[in-house]
Amino acid sequence: MINFQYARATDVADAVRQIAADPDAKFIAGGTNLIDLMKEDVARPARLIDISRLPLKTVEETAGGLRIGALVPNSDLAYHPAVAQRYPLLSSAILAGASQQLRNMASTGGNLLQRTRCFYFYDTATPCNKREPGSGCSAINGINRINAILGTSESCIATHPSDMCVALAALEAKVHVTGPGGERVIAFADFHRLPGNTPQLDTNLHPNEIVTAVELPPKGFAANYSYLKIRDRLSYAFALVSVAAALELEGETIKDARLALGGVAHKPWRDAAAEAALRGQAANRATFRHAADLLLRDAKGFAHNGFKIDLARRAILRTLAQAARATPQSQSAKKIR
Ligand SMILES: Cc1cc2nc3c(=O)[nH]c(=O)nc-3n(C[C@H](O)[C@H](O)[C@H](O)COP(=O)(O)OP(=O)(O)OC[C@H]3O[C@@H](n4cnc5c(N)ncnc54)[C@H](O)[C@@H]3O)c2cc1C
Ligand code: SF4
Repeated sequence: MINFQYARATDVADAVRQIAADPDAKFIAGGTNLIDLMKEDVARPARLIDISRLPLKTVEETAGGLRIGALVPNSDLAYHPAVAQRYPLLSSAILAGASQQLRNMASTGGNLLQRTRCFYFYDTATPCNKREPGSGCSAINGINRINAILGTSESCIATHPSDMCVALAALEAKVHVTGPGGERVIAFADFHRLPGNTPQLDTNLHPNEIVTAVELPPKGFAANYSYLKIRDRLSYAFALVSVAAALELEGETIKDARLALGGVAHKPWRDAAAEAALRGQAANRATFRHAADLLLRDAKGFAHNGFKIDLARRAILRTLAQAARATPQSQSAKKIR
């Protein structure tokens, strides 16, 4: 039994004050990731600051977009009418993750900050640079079937496990955070980090900051989108590879395109060259293949995960074709209801 203190934050300012006062404290929202990490002895916060009752549970219309409070549960967000109708890519990605019970508990902010599922990160008997900086990486020469093929480093080849974040990356969301110095806004592409030689840092959120909201821009790509998740089981499993594709079409021509991959890197993976290769081109297989080749040009497999490169290529082709035909892989929340 490891002792820890528990305190409830009364408002955002109080939450920031409490976290800034104690470097060994952690926020707890839905607890679906942090409690598991504590039970496995991977996380050892001296103090839990419960933010689950803060008034950050609303989805509000902003100048053409949406502002999603950091404590909006994943289920509420997926089924929210404005999200289901205007951002069905996000609904699809959320509903592809975890289980209904987990999605009822999991929060928007917590989903962004969930930690990798690398087997060795959870196994405290093995070296892991992310869990214990400087101890080594057991995955590089170990069982690395679920690990990354893009953006890896000699320190870490972990992947970010979220589905929701892949859609948020494609939609170019923004993350609103508050710290002792006030508020700031982080572009989604800059929120998560690549491992480099500091794999213990998953994001660019400062330790004394709280995520307060995620903002969606007006453009939702509601007509031509698809989220495809390839995994070992049909439910309750993390992505081996996932693809979020969003297209804006003018006849047969692609006017705008977004493409983000999950399960392949330390952060949701986007590639400007691959998206540029789609814009202005005919929405056909040759265009999609060229974009997939560009996106995967630097992909590197390890002993057990080389299969992910071809899997990702095929998944990109299929997801773009589904988006172009307006036949999305996952059903939108509107259709499920
Ligand atoms: C069996 C299982 C299967 C799963 N499958 C999937 C899946 O397929 N796809 C998927 O995407 N996810 C999956 N998940 C993960 C799940 O989505 C996350 O655990 C959940 O989103 C985390 O949200 P939470 O509110 O419970 O976070 P918590 O566990 O409360 O917190 C997680 C981390 O975020 C920090 N935090 C939380 N909120 C804030 C905030 N507002 N500001 C700053 N820091 C904050 C906490 O300090 C902690 O470090 C699965 C989880 C389980 C247990
Ligand atoms: S890949 Fe990263 S998380 Fe996994 S063992 Fe190596 S350092 Fe740890």
